[in-house]
Amino acid sequence: MAAKKHKILIADADRKLHRLLRAHKTASQYHIESAYTGHECLQKIDHFKPDLILIDLLLPQIHGIEILRKVKTDPRTNQVGVFILCSNVMIQNYHSAIKQKADDFIEKPFDFPALFTCIHQFFTGKLKPTLHTALDFEKEGKHCYLPKLHASGSYLKFWGTRGSNPVSGPDYVRFGGNTCCLEVRHGSDLLVFDAGTGIRPFGTILEASRPKNVHLFFSHTHWDHLAGFPFFPPIYDPECTVTIYSPIGFEKTTREIFTEMLAYAYFPVRLDEMRAKLIFKDLHEGEVLEINNFEVNTHYAYHPGATLCFKIRSNKVTFGYVTDNELLMGYHGNPSLLAKSNPILAPYLSQIKFFEGCDFIIHEAQYTPQEYLTKVGWGHSSIVNATALIKHADISEWIITHHDPRHTDQELLKKMQMQFDILDDCKVKCRARMAFDGMIIPL
Ligand SMILES: [Zn+2]
Ligand SMILES: [Zn+2]
Repeated sequence: MAAKKHKILIADADRKLHRLLRAHKTASQYHIESAYTGHECLQKIDHFKPDLILIDLLLPQIHGIEILRKVKTDPRTNQVGVFILCSNVMIQNYHSAIKQKADDFIEKPFDFPALFTCIHQFFTGKLKPTLHTALDFEKEGKHCYLPKLHASGSYLKFWGTRGSNPVSGPDYVRFGGNTCCLEVRHGSDLLVFDAGTGIRPFGTILEASRPKNVHLFFSHTHWDHLAGFPFFPPIYDPECTVTIYSPIGFEKTTREIFTEMLAYAYFPVRLDEMRAKLIFKDLHEGEVLEINNFEVNTHYAYHPGATLCFKIRSNKVTFGYVTDNELLMGYHGNPSLLAKSNPILAPYLSQIKFFEGCDFIIHEAQYTPQEYLTKVGWGHSSIVNATALIKHADISEWIITHHDPRHTDQELLKKMQMQFDILDDCKVKCRARMAFDGMIIPL
């Protein structure tokens, strides 16, 4: 008469594992039964009465250690062997299983001959539980992934994201306190938008690489966009050409503005004492400039004086840059109620059209709706009215900059949440983010 086969219950949700185990040549020496969930496992322990149970640690419905505890504390089953099967062994799980009297703890994926060796040792009384290590195979993800640094290729970087006035102190750590400055880089092409106080730390970095050409754009020449200019090292480098672009149409030419700003009454170094080759270009609305790999387009912004906003194209991406722009001046209502045909929107349609098709836009949203009640005509948008541009130009990504100097980190976080709620309420599908000093966007 043939020897009675030992009964093995395998409790694991992985059906492929059951198939492979049953197909192994040694499997026919045993009577094998399958369970795929915790409840099924407990039922089969009662009815099948296994001699050995192989339980996956994360068995659906009932954790493997809980089943182990039940088996080993029930006098009817405490002689039944239990192997715990586990992927990605954590040492605490191993110790817990051994403490609860598991007969072995086997790490997945395992080698089937080795498993059957353990099973054989168990039935012959020779098994000593050891921590089985995973097979020595080349694991996917074994090597540390280090992302490519954006700063090495084509990117833009915010060096200043504050509007109106620089700020500092413990309340301005997260978003930063420097006024506007944006670096736009593609290989050796270097475009800079605005020379707020953020241009000073940027210039310090440039001292090592000493660029030969810098194209410096101004949407307008209010203090927050200009105050860092005299502290920008390339303007003192005799081997550097700095081309300065600024809108014409309000009182003075670009050269006159910079000459007067650098009179001795305001700063100890005059413009004609700066050693770089400085070229001044007066910008007109609608002008398109080709600068190596970039095309810079201009449009009026809604701000006191002659102020422009920009649309920058490269061969990969098109984006808008608008720091000072009061949309829907004096409007305090819900922007989602304004159809494109509404006369309130009419003055802004050409700017909306200008930004249609942009991959993303950098646009201010300086005031909360409550603040805007007393700031009409100051040249900046409320977070509600800026949403109208995002909606009607169909922009899918919005980076908010030119933060109000009175807005602390905590207030900007609250404002960001309010912006999410407004976009949601107005049914505008757009990913919005707050810019911060040091933020890098790959192009
Ligand atoms: Zn500004
Ligand atoms: Zn301004």
